[in-house]
Amino acid sequence: MDCPYCKEEMETGKVCSNSGLWWSCEGEKLTLNDEPKMIGAINGYRITAYRCKKCGKIIILTGGNHE
Ligand SMILES: [Zn+2]
Repeated sequence: MDCPYCKEEMETGKVCSNSGLWWSCEGEKLTLNDEPKMIGAINGYRITAYRCKKCGKIIILTGGNHE
């Protein structure tokens, strides 16, 4: 994936949490976990993300429609 800001190639990694992690806005709650529910509950959440080393941005794709 190329960075939409500077067009540099991004590296794929994980945003990790020892517990849960979600996006929230005005009462809406979007869980951002890639792991199956039981593994997430035991090990914490792992969320696939793309990082641009050049401009320092990290991007998370939501909706489960990514690699
Ligand atoms: Zn960038």
